[in-house]
Amino acid sequence: MKLLEGKNAVVTGAARGIGRVIALTFAKHGANLAILGRSVDDRLLSLKAECEAFGVKVFVYGADVSNMQQTTAFADAVVKDMTEVDILVNNAGITRDNLLMRMSEEQWDEVIMVNLKSVFNLTKAFQRPMLKKKAGSIINLTSVVGVAGNAGQTNYAASKAGIIGFTKSVAKELGSRNIRCNAVAPGFIETDMTHGLPEDVKQEWLKNIPLKRAGTGEDVANACVFLGSDMSGYISGDVLMVSGAMPL
Ligand code: NAP
Repeated sequence: MKLLEGKNAVVTGAARGIGRVIALTFAKHGANLAILGRSVDDRLLSLKAECEAFGVKVFVYGADVSNMQQTTAFADAVVKDMTEVDILVNNAGITRDNLLMRMSEEQWDEVIMVNLKSVFNLTKAFQRPMLKKKAGSIINLTSVVGVAGNAGQTNYAASKAGIIGFTKSVAKELGSRNIRCNAVAPGFIETDMTHGLPEDVKQEWLKNIPLKRAGTGEDVANACVFLGSDMSGYISGDVLMVSGAMPL
């Protein structure tokens, strides 16, 4: 069953990791796509071709999500190409881990700008076509770390907790216009973001996951399909954990 047939979806951070799998899974479910990377590179062009094989339309763009001017121009270009936008997935994100004692101002600022300000930039820009259509689903990638906190990730946890507050507020602000806004909180997912962690840290995470495995991009993408689809029509302002019941 195709759950997103005919819908137009925007996915940021699509060049690799979870964003790439979200784009592919959305295409499988019939969504036309606007995929965004830092720049239009080979990774984005090959993803475009893979998605198009599912018979959907795919447009590619490059922009730095933390830059208001670039994201506004991106949103304008998407509306020009697709006219309507039904789903926005704010997925792009980074880590710059360090103990607070050693964390630089740059490490703090970069994570807040890329993870949190980007969600403000893109939601602000894409609410316009959604308001016009009187419909929309906004999906923001947060993290279990934004709910529970994590030593060595004060910047990342603050950005992801900020996303939850932003999500709940947007749900209240735009609900009367039939625009839903939810957050997805992945736990330990196998991507480049987690490959870099020391082996003992990885084993400690895995030991504590009741489902006894790391999550996959597909696990997260399927949750996004649900939240983007009409199946979740009465769900807004919520945080959907995709963590294998990881203890918080
Ligand atoms: P990833 O593999 O590191 O991929 C992140 C993507 O975001 C990359 O394509 C990257 O572009 C893009 N990006 C980074 N900064 C950008 C910027 N300024 N402008 C535009 N694009 C930018 O990360 P992931 O594991 O897929 O994570 C995706 C989302 O899930 C993030 O928000 C992350 O915080 C969240 N999450 C992940 C996990 C996990 O276990 N992996 C757990 C919880 C939450 P480049 O490829 O050009 O670098």
